[in-house]
Amino acid sequence: MRKKIVAGNWKMHKNATQTSELLSELIAKVPANTTAQIIVAPTFVNLAAAVNQLKGSNIAVAAQNVHQTESGAFTGEISADMLTGVGVNTVILGHSERRAIFHETDALIADKVNTALKHDMTVIFCFGEELKDRQSNQHFNVVENQLRDGLFQIDTKSWEKVVLAYEPVWAIGTGETASPEQAQEMHEFIRETVLKAFGKEIAENVTILYGGSVKPENAKEIFGKPDVDGGLIGGAALKADDFVAIVTAI
Ligand code: PEP
Repeated sequence: MRKKIVAGNWKMHKNATQTSELLSELIAKVPANTTAQIIVAPTFVNLAAAVNQLKGSNIAVAAQNVHQTESGAFTGEISADMLTGVGVNTVILGHSERRAIFHETDALIADKVNTALKHDMTVIFCFGEELKDRQSNQHFNVVENQLRDGLFQIDTKSWEKVVLAYEPVWAIGTGETASPEQAQEMHEFIRETVLKAFGKEIAENVTILYGGSVKPENAKEIFGKPDVDGGLIGGAALKADDFVAIVTAI
């Protein structure tokens, strides 16, 4: 059985007080018997406090980024060792905002993936086409290339530590959602692409999240598709009631 996951990417939102308040609400409201794995990704400066506050709960903490090298003169950067040192064992990599705003290439993302895996971290690997790719019918090619160039360098054993997050860029933070059918079509293609490269067992077992304007109103229908194993949530993860409604839709 594939793991179901609902992860909240808080991006550059919530200071220390607001982080603690939102976590308290989540601790109180996320059902104890949820079958999904619940993950939240606050900003770097609030990660250690979040780990402490969430001890004993069923909510795990992820980072939103990591540097690709072990240590050194990289002002402003954070290493994998620093993250695991404060109890953060999951990292989101390849997010479209990192790709577009911070110019992260597939090659750089591949290096980050390798570093995170070397530190035994779980990687939530994000990828997805832009609107122009879909309009020119290139979306399957773009997605396949992002997987091959950013992720498929890993060995078969490492797949236990990988979660895929398909996030069509045109649906992120836009209010525009892929239809459940569009999500299913792409998730099926992604699973097939993994199957061709790594075999059936890995393809069947890898969790594939959908991300892009998931809300309480559309979560159930999207999560109801057979190849959608949960969601990576942006905006709706910033309000406890919305996030919990999405968690309970799985
Ligand atoms: C995201 O940034 O990963 C995301 C899915 O954002 P939103 O849910 O706000 O579209």
